Amino acid sequence: MSTPPAWATELVARVCADADVAEPRLAWRRRLAEHSTGVTRRQEGAIAVRAGTDETDQRLTLLHELAHWLAPAARRGRRSDHHGRAFYATAFDLYRRHGLADADALRLEAARYRSALRHAVDLGVEGAVAARDAHRAAIRERPRRRWRVLVAEHRIRLERDGRWTVCSICGQKVVGITLARVRRARRPMRHVLMTSAS
Ligand SMILES: [Zn+2]
Ligand SMILES: [Zn+2]
Repeated sequence: MSTPPAWATELVARVCADADVAEPRLAWRRRLAEHSTGVTRRQEGAIAVRAGTDETDQRLTLLHELAHWLAPAARRGRRSDHHGRAFYATAFDLYRRHGLADADALRLEAARYRSALRHAVDLGVEGAVAARDAHRAAIRERPRRRWRVLVAEHRIRLERDGRWTVCSICGQKVVGITLARVRRARRPMRHVLMTSAS
Protein backbone atom coordinates (compact mmCIF):
# COMPACT_ATOMS: atom_id res chain seq x y z
CA MET A 1 0.00 0.00 0.00
CA SER A 2 1.39 3.39 -0.94
CA THR A 3 0.58 6.88 0.27
CA PRO A 4 -2.09 8.54 -1.85
CA PRO A 5 -0.80 11.43 -3.96
CA ALA A 6 -1.46 14.88 -2.52
CA TRP A 7 -4.02 15.79 -5.20
CA ALA A 8 -6.09 12.73 -4.27
CA THR A 9 -6.11 13.49 -0.54
CA GLU A 10 -7.05 17.11 -1.29
CA LEU A 11 -9.81 16.03 -3.67
CA VAL A 12 -11.37 13.76 -1.04
CA ALA A 13 -11.26 16.60 1.52
CA ARG A 14 -12.76 19.14 -0.87
CA VAL A 15 -15.60 16.93 -2.16
CA CYS A 16 -16.56 15.84 1.37
CA ALA A 17 -16.38 19.39 2.74
CA ASP A 18 -18.63 20.65 -0.09
CA ALA A 19 -21.18 17.91 0.60
CA ASP A 20 -20.79 18.20 4.38
CA VAL A 21 -20.09 14.51 4.90
CA ALA A 22 -17.32 12.73 6.82
CA GLU A 23 -14.26 11.79 4.80
CA PRO A 24 -13.52 8.16 3.94
CA ARG A 25 -10.07 6.73 4.48
CA LEU A 26 -8.29 6.51 1.17
CA ALA A 27 -6.27 3.42 0.34
CA TRP A 28 -4.05 3.73 -2.72
CA ARG A 29 -2.19 1.14 -4.71
CA ARG A 30 -0.67 1.00 -8.13
CA ARG A 31 -1.58 -1.37 -10.88
CA LEU A 32 0.30 -2.06 -14.10
CA ALA A 33 -2.39 -1.04 -16.53
CA GLU A 34 -3.76 2.07 -18.11
CA HIS A 35 -7.08 2.08 -16.30
CA SER A 36 -7.71 2.40 -12.60
CA THR A 37 -10.20 0.49 -10.52
CA GLY A 38 -11.90 1.57 -7.34
CA VAL A 39 -14.23 0.32 -4.66
CA THR A 40 -16.13 2.03 -1.86
CA ARG A 41 -16.40 0.09 1.39
CA ARG A 42 -18.95 1.93 3.42
CA GLN A 43 -18.84 -0.30 6.51
CA GLU A 44 -15.11 0.20 6.73
CA GLY A 45 -15.42 3.89 5.95
CA ALA A 46 -12.95 3.53 3.13
CA ILE A 47 -12.40 4.06 -0.57
CA ALA A 48 -9.73 1.92 -2.20
CA VAL A 49 -8.20 2.88 -5.53
CA ARG A 50 -5.83 0.84 -7.63
CA ALA A 51 -4.29 3.48 -9.78
CA GLY A 52 -3.36 2.79 -13.38
CA THR A 53 -1.03 4.91 -15.45
CA ASP A 54 -3.59 7.28 -17.02
CA GLU A 55 -3.88 10.29 -14.70
CA THR A 56 -7.22 11.47 -16.04
CA ASP A 57 -8.61 8.00 -15.39
CA GLN A 58 -7.17 8.02 -11.85
CA ARG A 59 -9.04 11.24 -11.18
CA LEU A 60 -12.26 9.95 -12.70
CA THR A 61 -12.00 6.72 -10.71
CA LEU A 62 -11.59 8.55 -7.42
CA LEU A 63 -14.48 10.92 -8.21
CA HIS A 64 -16.64 7.94 -9.25
CA GLU A 65 -16.03 6.32 -5.86
CA LEU A 66 -16.66 9.62 -4.10
CA ALA A 67 -20.01 9.81 -5.90
CA HIS A 68 -20.83 6.40 -4.33
CA TRP A 69 -19.67 7.76 -0.98
CA LEU A 70 -22.03 10.73 -1.29
CA ALA A 71 -24.92 8.85 -2.86
CA PRO A 72 -26.66 7.42 0.23
CA ALA A 73 -27.14 10.93 1.60
CA ALA A 74 -29.38 11.58 -1.38
CA ARG A 75 -31.09 8.21 -1.51
CA ARG A 76 -30.62 5.16 0.72
CA GLY A 77 -28.95 2.80 -1.69
CA ARG A 78 -31.17 0.25 -3.27
CA ARG A 79 -29.03 -2.19 -5.19
CA SER A 80 -30.64 -1.35 -8.52
CA ASP A 81 -29.67 2.28 -8.11
CA HIS A 82 -25.99 1.51 -7.73
CA HIS A 83 -25.18 2.96 -11.15
CA GLY A 84 -28.57 4.51 -11.78
CA ARG A 85 -29.61 7.97 -12.77
CA ALA A 86 -29.30 9.47 -9.27
CA PHE A 87 -25.78 8.12 -9.02
CA TYR A 88 -24.77 9.58 -12.38
CA ALA A 89 -26.33 12.95 -11.57
CA THR A 90 -23.93 13.11 -8.61
CA ALA A 91 -21.01 11.66 -10.54
CA PHE A 92 -21.19 13.93 -13.63
CA ASP A 93 -21.64 16.93 -11.36
CA LEU A 94 -18.47 15.98 -9.46
CA TYR A 95 -16.54 15.38 -12.69
CA ARG A 96 -17.46 18.81 -13.97
CA ARG A 97 -16.78 20.66 -10.75
CA HIS A 98 -13.45 18.97 -10.19
CA GLY A 99 -11.70 19.46 -13.47
CA LEU A 100 -12.76 16.68 -15.81
CA ALA A 101 -13.90 17.62 -19.31
CA ASP A 102 -17.31 16.19 -20.20
CA ALA A 103 -15.75 14.43 -23.19
CA ASP A 104 -13.25 12.60 -20.95
CA ALA A 105 -15.91 11.74 -18.40
CA LEU A 106 -18.17 10.29 -21.12
CA ARG A 107 -15.39 8.33 -22.77
CA LEU A 108 -14.07 6.81 -19.55
CA GLU A 109 -17.47 6.09 -17.98
CA ALA A 110 -18.77 4.48 -21.17
CA ALA A 111 -15.78 2.13 -21.12
CA ARG A 112 -16.91 0.90 -17.68
CA TYR A 113 -20.69 0.92 -17.77
CA ARG A 114 -22.68 1.12 -20.96
CA SER A 115 -25.65 2.54 -19.07
CA ALA A 116 -23.56 5.62 -18.26
CA LEU A 117 -24.22 7.08 -21.71
CA ARG A 118 -27.98 6.67 -21.44
CA HIS A 119 -27.99 8.44 -18.08
CA ALA A 120 -25.67 11.15 -19.41
CA VAL A 121 -28.12 11.78 -22.27
CA ASP A 122 -31.00 12.06 -19.78
CA LEU A 123 -28.95 14.40 -17.63
CA GLY A 124 -28.13 16.66 -20.57
CA VAL A 125 -24.36 16.21 -20.32
CA GLU A 126 -22.77 18.02 -23.23
CA GLY A 127 -21.71 15.68 -26.01
CA ALA A 128 -23.63 12.72 -24.56
CA VAL A 129 -25.93 12.29 -27.54
CA ALA A 130 -23.00 12.24 -29.98
CA ALA A 131 -21.07 9.84 -27.73
CA ARG A 132 -24.06 7.48 -27.48
CA ASP A 133 -24.58 7.51 -31.25
CA ALA A 134 -20.89 6.83 -31.88
CA HIS A 135 -20.99 3.97 -29.38
CA ARG A 136 -24.05 2.44 -31.08
CA ALA A 137 -22.45 2.74 -34.50
CA ALA A 138 -19.32 0.97 -33.21
CA ILE A 139 -21.43 -1.88 -31.86
CA ARG A 140 -23.30 -2.20 -35.16
CA GLU A 141 -20.07 -2.47 -37.09
CA ARG A 142 -18.71 -5.25 -34.92
CA PRO A 143 -18.80 -8.44 -36.97
CA ARG A 144 -21.72 -10.60 -35.98
CA ARG A 145 -21.67 -14.31 -35.61
CA ARG A 146 -23.30 -15.88 -38.59
CA TRP A 147 -25.23 -19.04 -38.00
CA ARG A 148 -25.89 -21.54 -40.67
CA VAL A 149 -27.62 -24.86 -40.77
CA LEU A 150 -25.21 -27.76 -40.82
CA VAL A 151 -27.81 -30.55 -40.76
CA ALA A 152 -31.37 -29.71 -41.81
CA GLU A 153 -34.24 -30.17 -39.40
CA HIS A 154 -35.04 -33.81 -38.85
CA ARG A 155 -36.66 -36.20 -36.44
CA ILE A 156 -34.33 -37.22 -33.67
CA ARG A 157 -33.47 -40.88 -33.83
CA LEU A 158 -31.66 -42.15 -30.79
CA GLU A 159 -28.87 -44.62 -31.00
CA ARG A 160 -26.07 -45.74 -28.75
CA ASP A 161 -22.54 -44.62 -29.47
CA GLY A 162 -20.29 -46.21 -26.89
CA ARG A 163 -21.33 -44.74 -23.54
CA TRP A 164 -23.38 -41.96 -25.14
CA THR A 165 -26.76 -41.68 -26.71
CA VAL A 166 -26.62 -39.75 -29.96
CA CYS A 167 -28.96 -38.72 -32.73
CA SER A 168 -28.17 -41.03 -35.63
CA ILE A 169 -29.10 -38.40 -38.21
CA CYS A 170 -26.80 -35.58 -37.11
CA GLY A 171 -24.54 -37.24 -34.58
CA GLN A 172 -25.26 -34.80 -31.72
CA LYS A 173 -25.06 -36.21 -28.23
CA VAL A 174 -28.42 -36.26 -26.52
CA VAL A 175 -28.06 -36.08 -22.76
CA GLY A 176 -29.78 -35.25 -19.50
CA ILE A 177 -33.14 -33.56 -19.57
CA THR A 178 -33.25 -33.53 -23.36
CA LEU A 179 -32.68 -37.27 -23.50
CA ALA A 180 -35.44 -37.88 -20.97
CA ARG A 181 -37.77 -35.64 -22.93
CA VAL A 182 -37.00 -37.31 -26.26
CA ARG A 183 -37.66 -40.74 -24.73
CA ARG A 184 -40.95 -39.64 -23.18
CA ALA A 185 -42.22 -37.72 -26.18
CA ARG A 186 -45.43 -38.99 -27.79
CA ARG A 187 -44.67 -37.31 -31.08
CA PRO A 188 -41.15 -37.52 -32.45
CA MET A 189 -39.04 -34.54 -31.49
CA ARG A 190 -37.15 -32.57 -34.07
CA HIS A 191 -33.67 -31.30 -34.21
CA VAL A 192 -31.49 -29.04 -36.28
CA LEU A 193 -27.74 -28.68 -36.09
CA MET A 194 -26.39 -25.17 -36.44
CA THR A 195 -22.84 -23.96 -36.71
CA SER A 196 -21.47 -20.49 -36.23
CA ALA A 197 -18.69 -18.56 -37.87
CA SER A 198 -17.82 -14.94 -37.32
ZN1 LIG B 1 -19.39 2.42 -9.33
ZN1 LIG C 1 -30.20 -34.95 -34.91
